[in-house]
Amino acid sequence: KIRVRYAPSPTGLLHIGNARTALFNYLFARHYGGDFVIRIEDTDKAREVEGGEASQLKNCAWLGLDWDESPQEPNIIYAPYRQSERLPIYKKYVQELLDKGLAYKSYMTEEELHVEKEVQAAAGHLPRHVYEYEGMSEEEIRKVQSEKEKAGIPSCVRIREHKDHIYEWDDMVKGKISFLGKNMYSADWVIEKADGYPTYNFCVVIDDHLMDITHILRGDDHVNNTPKQLMVYEAFGWDVPKMGHMPLIMNAATGKKLSKRDKNTLQFIEDYRSKGFLKEAVFNFISMLGWNPGGNEELFTREELIKLFDEKRMSSAPAAFDQNKLNWINSQYVKKLSEQEFIDLCLPFMERAGRLSSETSESERARIEKIIALFHQQLQYGEQIIELTNIFFEQIDLSEKNKKFVETSDAQQVIKCFRDKLAQLTESEFIEEKIVQLIKEVSKALNINGKNLWMPLRIALSREEHGPELDRFTVLLGLKPALERLDQTIL
Ligand code: GLU
Repeated sequence: KIRVRYAPSPTGLLHIGNARTALFNYLFARHYGGDFVIRIEDTDKAREVEGGEASQLKNCAWLGLDWDESPQEPNIIYAPYRQSERLPIYKKYVQELLDKGLAYKSYMTEEELHVEKEVQAAAGHLPRHVYEYEGMSEEEIRKVQSEKEKAGIPSCVRIREHKDHIYEWDDMVKGKISFLGKNMYSADWVIEKADGYPTYNFCVVIDDHLMDITHILRGDDHVNNTPKQLMVYEAFGWDVPKMGHMPLIMNAATGKKLSKRDKNTLQFIEDYRSKGFLKEAVFNFISMLGWNPGGNEELFTREELIKLFDEKRMSSAPAAFDQNKLNWINSQYVKKLSEQEFIDLCLPFMERAGRLSSETSESERARIEKIIALFHQQLQYGEQIIELTNIFFEQIDLSEKNKKFVETSDAQQVIKCFRDKLAQLTESEFIEEKIVQLIKEVSKALNINGKNLWMPLRIALSREEHGPELDRFTVLLGLKPALERLDQTIL
C-alpha cells in the first residue's frame, strides 16, 4: 500500500512551499488510494515557534488536505508522530550502528573541528570530517576513547561513510542523481549530538522506515540531504523509498527564488485565509506549481486533480509563483459563488472596515449587502471589497482632471438641474426608476445627451469615471449623501 508523508518542522506558519509539498503528497495518496501521514519533526527545539504545529495542521485542514494519520489521529502501529516523543527509538538505532561498528563516538572539540575545516579548505576540499581513528586497532581506539572520556571531553556519534561509494537514486522528478562519497559535504556526519539529541537526517530515515513510507516527495532543498539518508538506509540494510524532489519556486515578478521577504506576494496560507481567498482556488493554484495535466485548461476541482494526478507529469523546471495568476484563478472561483455566498465572503471585510457591526440596522445591512453584490464580477478576493466600495462610504476627493471637468459650465448646468429635481423627491420616491426619469428630464430640459449628460453626474456622485449603473449607484448611496455630493461640486 502506498504511504506518503508530509513532515513539517513546527518552525513557523505554513508557507506556500511547504503547502505545495503537503498538497502533492495528498494528491499522490488519494490518487492511488494510499495513506497520507503528517509527522511533526520537532527535534530542533531552538527553532520551534509557539503554535507552529497547530498552525500547520489548521492550514492543511483549511486547504482540505485531510490526512489519515497525525499526532492527533495516531495509528497504534506507527505512533508517536512527533519526533520529540520518539527519542528512545532513535537511541536504540544509534546504539545498533555503534555495536555494528558502522558509527563511532567522536571526541573532536570545537577547536579541533575548526582547524580540520581550515586544513580541508586550504586543500580545496569541501568541509568534511575524516575518520579520526584511521589505521588504529580496536584496542587502540578503545584506549583513546576512554582517555577522552576521563578527561571529560563531550562526544557525539558519527556515521561512517565509505569514501569511494556512490550514492545514487532515480528521482521521481529529476531523474538519476548521484553523489560520490568523497565529494559529499561533511562525510562522517553527526547522527547524535553531544547533548544526546539525534539529528534530522538520521531521524527522518528511522521514521520513514518504521512508518512504512513508500514514497518521499519533498522540496528540492533536500536533494543534498538524500545521499546522507541513503547512507543510513544502507547501514541498516533497509529498502529505500522512492524519492522525488520538487523544483524550486521562483517569483514570476523577479525571476528569482521566491523569498519570504518579496513584496506584493502572499506566501503564507494564513494570509490567503485572512485576505478572503477561497480554499478551492488556492488548492487549484498550488497544484499548478510544478505540475500540469497537459493542455491549456487551468481550472480544476480537487476531485479532478486527484483523478488526473500523475507523478510522471511533475516538472523538474522551476515553478513560477505568479500572484496575478492566483488572483485571477481566485476571481474565477468567486464568479461561481451564488450571490448569497459572495455576500457572506465579503461581509467580514466590511465589518473589519467598520462599515457594519452587530448594531447595524436591518435596512442598513440590506443596503450594504446590495452594495456588495454590485461587485460580484469584479472582485478577485474578499478584502478587495473594502476598496471597491469606498465610493459609497468615503469622502473621495476629485482628481484634478475631474475637478476641471465638473467645473465647466456645461457640466455645472447638468449637475444643478439634476440636483434641483432630486431635492424634490421624498425618500419613498427615491428609487431607480425615478432616477432614470429625472436624468431623462434633465436631458430634455437642457437638450444634452450621452456622455455629456451622464459623465458630469457620475463624477459628481461617485467621484470616479467608471462604476456601477448610475441609477442603482445613486439609490444605494442614499438621498442625503447624493444631494451632499452634488452640492459639493456646484460652484
Ligand atoms: N522536516 C523537514 C522540513 O520541514 C522535511 C523533511 C522531509 O520531508 O524529509 O523541511
